[in-house]
Amino acid sequence: MKRFERLDVTPIRKTREKAPPSVERRPVVVPRPEALRQAILDKLAYALGKDVASATPHDWLFATALAVRNHIVDSWVASEQRTDEAGGKRVYYLSIEFLIGRLLFDGLGNLGLTEPVREALSSLGVDLDELRALEPDAALGNGGLGRLAACFMDSMASLALPTFGYGIRYQFGLFKQIIEDGWQTEAPDRWLDFGNPWEFKRPEIVYPIHFGGTAEAIEAEHAKPGAWYYAETILAMAYDTPIVGWRGKHANTLRLWSALAEEPIALATFNQGDHLGAMAARDTAEAISDVLYPSDDNPAGEELRLRQEFFFTSASLQDLLQRHIATFGDIASLPDKAAIHLNDTHPALAVAELMRLLLDEHHVAWEEAWRITSQTLNYTNHTLLPEALETWPVALLARLLPRHLQIIYTINYDHLKSLPDGLKAPESIAALSLIEERGERRVRMGHLAFVGSRRINGVSALHTDLLRRTVFHDLDRAYPGRIVNKTNGISFRRWLHEANPALTKLLVETVSPTILDDPSLLRKLEAFADDPAFHAKLRATRLANKEALAKRIGARLDIHLDPQALFDVHIKRIHEYKRQLLNIIEAIALYLEILDKPGFAAVPRVKIFAGKAAASYWHAKLIIKLANAVADVVNKDPRIGDRLKLVFVPNYNVSIAEAIIPATDLSEQISTAGMEASGTGNMKLALNGALTIGTLDGANVEIREHVAADNIFIFGAVTEEIAQKRKSGFTGAEAKAASPRLARALDAIAAGVFSPDDKGRFKPLLDAVLGYDPFMVVADFDAYWDAQRKVDALWNEPEHWWRAATLNIARMAWFSSDRTIREYADEIWRAKTLP
Ligand SMILES: *Cc1c(COP(=O)(O)O)cnc(C)c1O
Repeated sequence: MKRFERLDVTPIRKTREKAPPSVERRPVVVPRPEALRQAILDKLAYALGKDVASATPHDWLFATALAVRNHIVDSWVASEQRTDEAGGKRVYYLSIEFLIGRLLFDGLGNLGLTEPVREALSSLGVDLDELRALEPDAALGNGGLGRLAACFMDSMASLALPTFGYGIRYQFGLFKQIIEDGWQTEAPDRWLDFGNPWEFKRPEIVYPIHFGGTAEAIEAEHAKPGAWYYAETILAMAYDTPIVGWRGKHANTLRLWSALAEEPIALATFNQGDHLGAMAARDTAEAISDVLYPSDDNPAGEELRLRQEFFFTSASLQDLLQRHIATFGDIASLPDKAAIHLNDTHPALAVAELMRLLLDEHHVAWEEAWRITSQTLNYTNHTLLPEALETWPVALLARLLPRHLQIIYTINYDHLKSLPDGLKAPESIAALSLIEERGERRVRMGHLAFVGSRRINGVSALHTDLLRRTVFHDLDRAYPGRIVNKTNGISFRRWLHEANPALTKLLVETVSPTILDDPSLLRKLEAFADDPAFHAKLRATRLANKEALAKRIGARLDIHLDPQALFDVHIKRIHEYKRQLLNIIEAIALYLEILDKPGFAAVPRVKIFAGKAAASYWHAKLIIKLANAVADVVNKDPRIGDRLKLVFVPNYNVSIAEAIIPATDLSEQISTAGMEASGTGNMKLALNGALTIGTLDGANVEIREHVAADNIFIFGAVTEEIAQKRKSGFTGAEAKAASPRLARALDAIAAGVFSPDDKGRFKPLLDAVLGYDPFMVVADFDAYWDAQRKVDALWNEPEHWWRAATLNIARMAWFSSDRTIREYADEIWRAKTLP
């Protein structure tokens, strides 16, 4: 068996220990524009080999990013030194997704360099906002889960909590969505084509990742630990991106792994003339970090996905163990010095892999290895959707990771044996086992993560409550107190200050500049809730943002929007449970109503949709087609004019969200109750002063508690009512029969009003909602319609509308991810921020 020979990459620590302690206490001085101008010109010349005459806009972007990066690196190096000196606990956040978006304005904003850099560039005849738009989004995530990880990185850096984020450096991020004839098509996201100015390749930080082979048995009661004779090895190489926090005081590392073959080329094969064959091993190995799986809320069944999960989990654990031992010298102190967090179950193999590393590489006895593992790991559950609870076939694990399967079996044996007597009935054992025995035997990754973790959390009060009552009901009884709630949050720096500078300026002027450091001061805005002068200013910033968005949409999609209309926004992944279909049906009903009754006092509305459907999710793709088809008919109907417009903005991503959110009047958060774990889009929109129309689902419940029921439009069946309806045998056909308005809208779809070329096109959508109606679309229609008319009524009373908008902004401070991270640090990780 070949062992991987690692380069000696031990850093020369001596010099660092002797570094003068003053280095990190250097006062943060904001460089002057002249100095920045020179730094940018230097980067242009010496990093890019260009002069002012030959520089392209991309060269300017790179030169600027590299000049800004220098300042980030200063903070980064000092932070690492301070962390070492403090000798405290580090947090390791493992996530298969980081939906970062652009980084230039993050860095500029956090370092206070936005205006000096703008000035420096302008003296060179370059417009900073044009450069901003050129930066590709780092879209290493599908949606909320990945964006949460990115907001958390921002908060952990801002709070000076020493953290490594660990993930995968996908060559291709989430696919680019192109709308052709109303249909979604997918193209590769080539975000690295021009290189990535933020990352540092670390060719010396490489770990071997093994697969396959056979495992020697673990003997009864762990007397003999067993062993792994693996068959295949690939390498994980690190790429580091510094993540700098607010005011540049601290920077953490986002370490993303890229896959490499052990042998880049089989030279003997090549020399025999088989050129393609000589590269095959490399291609297979490197495929692991090629693409982000485009599935949101349902695990891909592919073997490659399992390889990805193990690949980044193993590399991250090897890396953090080597750091821990280099720093502290022994392994027993791991739980005191490291908190490892599993963002959903994708890294759940960490339970088995940490055990394996401790047993096989560090020769720790089983009981001690289990103590270390189960005291160090923590896990967040992100969904209750049954199709999203990850399981892997035992047969696949036996082939790919036989040693891990054996360790999982042993953990399961111990876990089931230690259950209290009350939970030893066969049906309890079946529910509690890490192995699903019905049908094909599979390992339940959520159960594995649960049993191996010190704390397990849900992401909103309702979601955590449902976790305790449903998927983890039995585990909660077996391990009481392990489940805690940590309601999600968002980075205000990105979602308010960067995305909405006009509103930020108004808030700073109205309240105080300290709101940038302490969002709880937003409360003081309550004093302006009934102030007509403040309303006027708030309306003016909204209007300007809407004008900017209307201009962009006009240029890209050739649709004219009236900025005075109510901008009604539904942006998120396209999924049946998020019920874009309910919104589209309401648009159709509204359209028919306006046609019917020319005097119908409808408020002029623009319905804006954006979102991607998983490439294999046929119903979601059909919903996109329907949205575009309805837009086509309604927007072209001269009888409608500006009273109703629909827009589907293609290729939803972080940057598009940043453009749409500040221009939103009404935020659609209308998921089927019990299905949205938290939502974070709801928070971004409310923070920017949009009013929410939503169900009692996820964090909407807590948003209502904070902003008060008068300032949010809640409608629809709640979780218990849905369960009741299900029991009573509810069908969509019944609801249709009871609602003439709904019936007309559905009949219009069925009659081909929106698909004259193919009348049956949308029949699959209609069949679903008229039968079992799994997402209660038609069941909630009338309640939704009524709530929308309340929206109209409030819009027509501007002083009440803008009062509610003001109170939404004033009362959203609790939803800052800084608050969320403080709670994680105190109650889950027991880790301290640096002073
Ligand atoms: C915030 C965000 C999400 C999550 O939105 P939800 O409405 O909570 O589903 C998804 N994608 C992007 C780009 C986001 O910024």
